[in-house]
Amino acid sequence: MGGAKVKLQHIREEIVEYGKKLSKESLTKGTGGNLSVFHRETGIMAISPSGIDYYEIKPEQVVLLDVEIGSVIEGEALPSSERDMHRIFYKYRDDINAIIHTHSTFATAISCLNITLPAVHYLVALAGVDVPCADYATYGTVALAKNAFKAMEGRKACLLANHGMLSGGKSLSEAYNIAEGIEFCSELYYRAKSIGEPVILPKDEMLRVVERFKDYGKKWEEHDMI
Ligand SMILES: [Zn+2]
Repeated sequence: MGGAKVKLQHIREEIVEYGKKLSKESLTKGTGGNLSVFHRETGIMAISPSGIDYYEIKPEQVVLLDVEIGSVIEGEALPSSERDMHRIFYKYRDDINAIIHTHSTFATAISCLNITLPAVHYLVALAGVDVPCADYATYGTVALAKNAFKAMEGRKACLLANHGMLSGGKSLSEAYNIAEGIEFCSELYYRAKSIGEPVILPKDEMLRVVERFKDYGKKWEEHDMI
């Protein structure tokens, strides 16, 4: 258990660090949004606490939860009210080990239209061929967790109607990159829409980009050799 303890401590510190990054890069405001990491070997997830400013969170306030039953194992604060929306992905998707939920301005603006964010730019492929919008449900409810899970099927991000955005990846850095990329694409869509009708990339092209992103590092190596 010693190794797991060290790893969980490291995860808690990572959540503190990425929380500050979310706030600094304007991906969320005040205490809005939340983030978590799943330690699959122990079945424990670490999630940001409820209602504490991102610059004030200490690693020991990051709450450790049992993913299977949702009970608190350790933490000197209350877990985020959206914990069930994180848990559901760790329980039922083995490609997701980290989740970020934001109230970033442009993604949230698009979510208020209750529409799918289309492939306005190839970076939408960070999430998939497009970014569906989950049906509205009250924040912090199991109903919202279920709606988000359904909307994110075959994707790594979704919008939450009249609320915000959710992204998931193998690591916190991947989930962060997706959140940042989808916020950028949401802003592009908003701006392009305001001056005309944006051209949407076809699905076969998006599927190609999704494939390329799967081994992005490897592709870069090949690129450097040319
Ligand atoms: Zn929220």
